[in-house]
Amino acid sequence: MSSKEELYKLLVDKAPYGTLFFAYGVCIDANPRVFEILDCDKKQLVGSSLDEITGDESTALVDLKLQLKKAVRANLEQVAWCCPETTGVREIDIRIIYAGENNRDLVVTLQPQPNEQRIHADQGREAKPRKSAADAVADHLVEQEIEPGPAIESTEHSPAAPVASSEPPSPPSAIDEVLDPPILTSPLASLSDGGDTWGKKLSAREYYFDSLTNLPNRQKLLGHLRDFLNAHSGGELCGALLMIDLDNFKDINDSWGHALGDEVIKKIGRAIAGLVHGDKMLARMSGDEFLMFIPDISDSISQAAWDAQALAEGVREVVAAPIFLDGHEVILTASIGIALLTDASLSAERALQYADTAMYEAKRKGRNSIAFFDPCITEKAQRQIGLNTRLRKALDNQEFALYVQPQICLSSGRVQGGEALLRWINSDKVTNMPSEFIPVLESSGLIVDVGQWVIRTACEYIRSLLDEGLWKDYMRLGINISPRQFRDPQLIEVVQHSVNSYGIEPRYLDFEITENMVIDDVEETIRKMQDIKQLGASFSIDDFGIGYSSMIYLKRLPFDHLKIDREFVRNISRDPDSRGVVEAIMAVSKQYGLDVMAEGVENRDSLEVLRAVGCDGYQGAHYSMPVPFDRFRKILAA
Ligand code: C2E
Ligand code: MG
Ligand code: MG
Repeated sequence: MSSKEELYKLLVDKAPYGTLFFAYGVCIDANPRVFEILDCDKKQLVGSSLDEITGDESTALVDLKLQLKKAVRANLEQVAWCCPETTGVREIDIRIIYAGENNRDLVVTLQPQPNEQRIHADQGREAKPRKSAADAVADHLVEQEIEPGPAIESTEHSPAAPVASSEPPSPPSAIDEVLDPPILTSPLASLSDGGDTWGKKLSAREYYFDSLTNLPNRQKLLGHLRDFLNAHSGGELCGALLMIDLDNFKDINDSWGHALGDEVIKKIGRAIAGLVHGDKMLARMSGDEFLMFIPDISDSISQAAWDAQALAEGVREVVAAPIFLDGHEVILTASIGIALLTDASLSAERALQYADTAMYEAKRKGRNSIAFFDPCITEKAQRQIGLNTRLRKALDNQEFALYVQPQICLSSGRVQGGEALLRWINSDKVTNMPSEFIPVLESSGLIVDVGQWVIRTACEYIRSLLDEGLWKDYMRLGINISPRQFRDPQLIEVVQHSVNSYGIEPRYLDFEITENMVIDDVEETIRKMQDIKQLGASFSIDDFGIGYSSMIYLKRLPFDHLKIDREFVRNISRDPDSRGVVEAIMAVSKQYGLDVMAEGVENRDSLEVLRAVGCDGYQGAHYSMPVPFDRFRKILAA
């Protein structure tokens, strides 16, 4: 460890709190602690924008982004945040320790409060955020405009909905845990509301009903649901569960106190109950969470989906109606998850879990929205298993093909080689793309064999082009190496053996690896890269983003080329931020003597910007998408 920069990095990496860096509103780096806190990995976080929510982000990350945007807008330096976790919520201090003039360059720390203060949702309503932060939030609450939010689907926002901090969805209430089976089966003596307390005998009313709203509680609803599922076992059923969670309810408690919060819950409960007739049931699950159970919603599944959606819309409407209390006008929104009940073998608990999952999905979509539980999630897992079996045979059956995408030198305009890209053309002649099968190859380990085939085939291509006089000495062929393949101890022998058997120069090969492969073990990566470079081959860092750590890797690892991720190339001619990122990458690359290749160049405008910023080469649809080898040969011959 020598340079000051590295020492600072060490300090940040080992810090007990999380640190995030944003440039142009895009997260460019974070220390390892952040990934724990946000329950996400580096790939999800780095490159993620404050203005956009993508499907693979954790709930905590989505929520943090909302908090940050609001804090920046309200000029807050510190916010007490209830970070949603699977088991409840955790109190975390968000501090903005630096905000650039544009408010888009930020340095943020996340300081978890001591463990004793880790609160579970039910207590969470009572836990007071630390005063300064709570006051600050309350002060700004009034002036705040509504959060337009990352609406993706059917999200709407009621004007004036106060949103200053998040309301985490609640896990099962503590009461359920205290009161499990033994009491359930014992005869219940009284149905009165009267005097029994904990430790004594409980009345049925206390046991089955929520004292604040007088609605059935979780136990009551679960029992009802179990009866329904049992009654239909073996037959057909078409019911629905709607999990309803109020958005940002915590703001009400924090700014107006719990007494008013309770009044709001009562009123909302009553309003939703107005939609419940016949054999429907509405229960208060915990905190600000309600569950509606509709035993027989319609005759067919498709109709059930429509009806459940319509009902959820109705709930959204009644929740959104303004409530007047103590001279305050309160406007709320709800996130609603729908699980359709079509399988009587499902347990009641599992059905509840489905509705809960869907509700999280609705929150993730940007709150104030409705989402259905997607059974495809489990189907997907099964499909993967099937895919694995078919991929095992694919290599023997010669179903893989290696396409090549030409790469162009920006200054001369000539083809300087290409990138080899795998395709799987199965027995139905369907061409499958790497994103569909490489993860399966990788997780099953098959990638090692397939990767060896790729290296051999690439060498074979070069041999054949050399023989035809089409391969020039300045050309290179890029080969992607996956993490597992890179770790394979035989990799170097495979490369050596392949170049020897086809009699080609190793320097014609350029191995493309991504940053996340490096992170695992930097020293080992360096050693391995050096061994392969000794043979004469070169290395590219693929899909390059703008992480601070990736910049560090650039310095330490013996890369020859850098490939700019197509995400940053895509909008380069229209979006100044993308251009800024690419310019930053160019500056660093030049400093380290790296040759830069842009991926995914789709039009002339992008090309001109890339030329202007000093990029060396490109590949992309503008010149040619990946093509079968014969076609690539023709391109070289033209
Ligand atoms: P990559 O290495 O970043 O490859 C570039 C990807 O960008 C290719 O996707 C290519 O088809 C696509 N691309 C190039 N130009 C354009 C463009 O102008 N517009 C758009 N929309 N896309 C463009 P592809 O072939 O689907 O490969 C995806 C990824 O799969 C590759 O990303 C690479 O990480 C992996 N992969 C492909 N072949 C292999 C292989 O043989 N071994 C391993 N381990 N991974 C591979
Ligand atoms: Mg690549
Ligand atoms: Mg790439």
